[in-house]
Amino acid sequence: MSKEKKIINAYAVLEAGGLFESFSYEVGELQPNEVEIDVLHCGICHSDLSMVENEWGMSQYPLVAGHEVVGKIAAKGSKVQNLEEGMTVGLGWHAGYCGHCHPCKTGDQNLCAQAQPTIVAHHGGFADKVRADASSVVTIPEGIDLEAAGPLLCGGITVFNPLVQFDVKSTDKVAVIGIGGLGHIALQFLNAWGCEVTAFTSSESKRKEALNMGAHNTLNSRDQGEIESAANSFDFIISTVNVKLDWNLYLNTLKPKGRLHFVGATLEPLDVGVFSLLMGQKSISGSPVGSPTTIELMLEFSRLHNVKPQVEIYPMSKINEAFDHLKSGNAKYRIVLSNE
Ligand code: NAP
Ligand code: ZN
Ligand code: ZN
Repeated sequence: MSKEKKIINAYAVLEAGGLFESFSYEVGELQPNEVEIDVLHCGICHSDLSMVENEWGMSQYPLVAGHEVVGKIAAKGSKVQNLEEGMTVGLGWHAGYCGHCHPCKTGDQNLCAQAQPTIVAHHGGFADKVRADASSVVTIPEGIDLEAAGPLLCGGITVFNPLVQFDVKSTDKVAVIGIGGLGHIALQFLNAWGCEVTAFTSSESKRKEALNMGAHNTLNSRDQGEIESAANSFDFIISTVNVKLDWNLYLNTLKPKGRLHFVGATLEPLDVGVFSLLMGQKSISGSPVGSPTTIELMLEFSRLHNVKPQVEIYPMSKINEAFDHLKSGNAKYRIVLSNE
């Protein structure tokens, strides 16, 4: 392998809340377990916005965000066996794992404490190329629309993984709170999974669309009366919002043994009455993305059941306009940046 240096052309923000600017960085030889991906498309997840604004206090600048990458393998390190040049692949929130801790050895790589996030102290997919450890890169099955596939790799897996982890059944009644990037994919998965699906949205205009995406019912996520009308209804609730809602009202919509599961990164601490948990033996939980194997399962499920993110495509060069659109709250439902 040559020792020459290469340049990756990306878009970076240089300070918290800044605009994206053209940014090139130099990379050396590929590591033996690494691959280099030519980026075709990269979705914009709300977590990219939170990282740009350093909402979670872990951003490092210059920050090249983007962790819903679809692309082609451009080069691979000497020890990579599972991927070949030219393969169509996906890369999500994680760009590598330690490979030897208990979660890694038991197939829960997404719970690895040493996992390398794609956009934390690592440059992500708003670029012409991105590098990652081959263990975190999945192949995209034929038959999946590549323009719409990026959002499956973070948004999609994050709402699919709980169905696997908690053994959600086709006879379960499941609610999704927040019909944005994650939520609109969750409605499709749950409908295909066989569940009775309720969409909680704060946007009246999304109600009809939620029904078309797989919801059987819709309720207003901020209307106390509507939430109360659903008392004792759900086996499982997935919250995708990043704001504080009245969680006690939601706990009351769970059936006995029901679960309120958080994937949305709400920063405010939970404020819940323990008695409502005790009396109905209810649970509250959370989870991050999913393991590479679960991502592959999710992609197969998406292909088979025609689960497809609804995307708005922007050229990569219009990245600042695309972020403004996400911030406006009007994205329907996931924005994807495409390299021309
Ligand atoms: P998004 O597209 O912006 O969607 C968030 C949705 O939340 C909005 O569409 C809206 O839905 C609802 N919402 C926003 N403000 C609200 C308010 N004031 N009151 C009530 N509802 C409100 O974001 P996303 O990309 O889906 O990401 C959602 C969250 O998940 C973010 O916090 C993100 O960081 C996190 N995330 C976590 C993981 C993980 O591994 N756990 C992975 C990916 C993303 P309605 O219009 O329907 O009300
Ligand atoms: Zn994400
Ligand atoms: Zn590990």
